Amino acid sequence: MYKNNFPNFASLLNKRPHATAYLVGSSDYPALHGQVKFYQTKYGVLTVAEISGLPIEEENCENRIFGFHIHEGTSCTGNENDQFAGALTHYNPHNCPHPHHAGDLPPIFGANGKAFSAFLTNSFTLEEIIGLTIVLHSNPDDFTTQPAGNSGTKIACGVIM
Ligand SMILES: [Zn+2]
Repeated sequence: MYKNNFPNFASLLNKRPHATAYLVGSSDYPALHGQVKFYQTKYGVLTVAEISGLPIEEENCENRIFGFHIHEGTSCTGNENDQFAGALTHYNPHNCPHPHHAGDLPPIFGANGKAFSAFLTNSFTLEEIIGLTIVLHSNPDDFTTQPAGNSGTKIACGVIM
């Protein structure tokens, strides 16, 4: 039954995505980069992140989980204090509290500096997010603190195209 009924999302993974964001690390994380691919399906948007150059944990219990969100800003430009200030804050068209922003995503789990994450979400449609930004943060998202889960600085950013 499972094999017959469950949509074959995995078959999309090698297909050309409907939208892509290329993540670029901030100056503190020059090796950090990645690609986030988006596929609109009838159930929601399949989102696939492949990231390299993540900070590697030096000890147990630290530095391995990174907050991940779609932001409402349309640019990864910034200033001295926030290199990706142009990404603004979490995409939140329905005026919900964090972590119920449409742009709130599952956190990225690093594994020896790499991450691979694939998930399905109907919090947004592909059409809505084209031109917005996707941001990786230095710390885990606590899924509680307002307005952004206390996930630290923005360490990588990409525009969804
Ligand atoms: Zn949020």
